[in-house]
Amino acid sequence: MPDFDVVVMGAGHNALVTAAYAARAGLKVGVFERRHVVGGAVSTEELVPGYRFDYGGSAHILIRMTPVVRELELTRHGLHYLEVDPMFHASDGETPWFVWRDAERTARELEALFPGQGEAYRRFLDDWTPFARSVADLFNSAPGPLDLGKMVVRSGQGRDWQAQLSRILRPYGDVAREYFAEERVRAPLVWMAAQSGPPPSDPLSAPFLLWHPLYHAGGVARPKGGSGGLTKALHRAVEAGGGQVFVNAPVKRILVRDGKAQGIELEGGERYTARAVVSGTHLLTTAQALPPEHVPEAARNVRVGNGFGMVLRLALSERVRYRQHTEPESRVGLGLLIKNERQLLKGYGEYLAGEPTTDPPLIAMSFSAVDDSLAPPGGEVLWLWAQYYPYQLASGTWEGRQAEARENILRAFEHYAPGTRDTIVGELVQTPQWLERELGLHRGNVMHLEMSFDQMFAFRPWLGASQYRWPGLKGLYLTGASTHPGGGIMGASGRNAARVLVKDLTRRGWR
Ligand SMILES: Cc1cc2nc3c(=O)[nH]c(=O)nc-3n(C[C@H](O)[C@H](O)[C@H](O)COP(=O)(O)OP(=O)(O)OC[C@H]3O[C@@H](n4cnc5c(N)ncnc54)[C@H](O)[C@@H]3O)c2cc1C
Repeated sequence: MPDFDVVVMGAGHNALVTAAYAARAGLKVGVFERRHVVGGAVSTEELVPGYRFDYGGSAHILIRMTPVVRELELTRHGLHYLEVDPMFHASDGETPWFVWRDAERTARELEALFPGQGEAYRRFLDDWTPFARSVADLFNSAPGPLDLGKMVVRSGQGRDWQAQLSRILRPYGDVAREYFAEERVRAPLVWMAAQSGPPPSDPLSAPFLLWHPLYHAGGVARPKGGSGGLTKALHRAVEAGGGQVFVNAPVKRILVRDGKAQGIELEGGERYTARAVVSGTHLLTTAQALPPEHVPEAARNVRVGNGFGMVLRLALSERVRYRQHTEPESRVGLGLLIKNERQLLKGYGEYLAGEPTTDPPLIAMSFSAVDDSLAPPGGEVLWLWAQYYPYQLASGTWEGRQAEARENILRAFEHYAPGTRDTIVGELVQTPQWLERELGLHRGNVMHLEMSFDQMFAFRPWLGASQYRWPGLKGLYLTGASTHPGGGIMGASGRNAARVLVKDLTRRGWR
């Protein structure tokens, strides 16, 4: 008798989603996590007394386009989502504007501020909402080779599909220019699209902009108490189904016998046998845990990239005060702080040359504005995500260059909110090296693998492994950001993988 039906390697949110569905289907599940907390890139701890910091993702957007929260009854397991509205605060430092959950209000306010641009925003949403919905549908199922065609057909709805297709194949920077003549509107939208990694000049990248209508459909939310509220609830859901979750339990090896994955061995030497192994870690970590003869060339050749973002997390003794005094709204949503498009492109140019960007655009997050459990009364958490930062530098080391990169992020923020530096009472600097060392994100890629078209849909992680099964090795399954639909707080990969796993193990679905 094996120890478990399913052992799960890693307790990132996708792995926990798979584990929770499997447990709910009656399978005996054991989850083994390397760190001292569950959640991986979706976890939160009180790192400065009185201030709770997320370690990774903070904006819960894509998971709202999935049935995960409802199906796993995560509210019953303690998840409490707080709405973030306005969802975004866009600013070049002089003229702030807001993206509200209410699309019409957003368009109206834009029109008043930048004549013609509210109308352009309406047209953009009207043109691309069906497409965005079809992308969300594709996220919620295992990928197929015809996904691009399906997206185009489903998004057609009477539109000129040839024109739609040619836009989808373009760089998102080009598509943004087609719609928005005003750079102060265009640059923040482009900056948001840049969050998946590829720059605005990449061909085939338009979907990163074209799914913008989903923000209005699903909204932006925060678990009360921090991002880790999601993974804590998932942990409880696994246990409610009779599963067990072990922390400080790094997996060293996936045990293989007779061409089948049979269990795992921990760094400490303990072994656990199972009918199936699911890996929710980075693909390269999975490959490293396997006997080399079971690692195909394609697994070694995935493109992990060279890092792209870093974060300066600050504990402040006072609330953020923007130069344009648009509080409290400007403290609520994600601050898309970018002076112009050139700032983003210049940063990308420096990154390509192996240098940390000197004047980064920022995503500013001060979610203590919506959740008073994150900071003491009157205080604030301020997290500044910046791009672009190479993991491998052309000159020097990250130890040597961290202070300079941190200072440049802070200086960039002071353009919008001068005096912030005087209120800092604690901080965490997350360089690409930090992300790799602490969270297991190889080369600091928060999406695991590059999110370029050649590694999306049926090509993620590679064509032969896109159905959440490791090719050539029975009993080994994959979930997580290394698989379709990729990085981000979504849980869709976890759910898609669970469907395959549960069907294989029980010969019936999990409903
Ligand atoms: C700084 C940062 C900011 C981000 N911001 C956002 C955001 O605002 N919105 C958004 O949608 N996304 C954001 N993301 C991306 C998103 O958080 C990740 O893509 C996503 O959470 C990945 O989840 P996962 O479950 O697939 O994998 P991971 O979270 O990477 O989980 C893998 C787990 O495996 C564990 N592990 C590794 N090796 C072993 C081993 N040998 N044995 C056992 N366990 C092991 C790891 O510790 C980890 O817990 C951000 C990420 C980061 C890092």
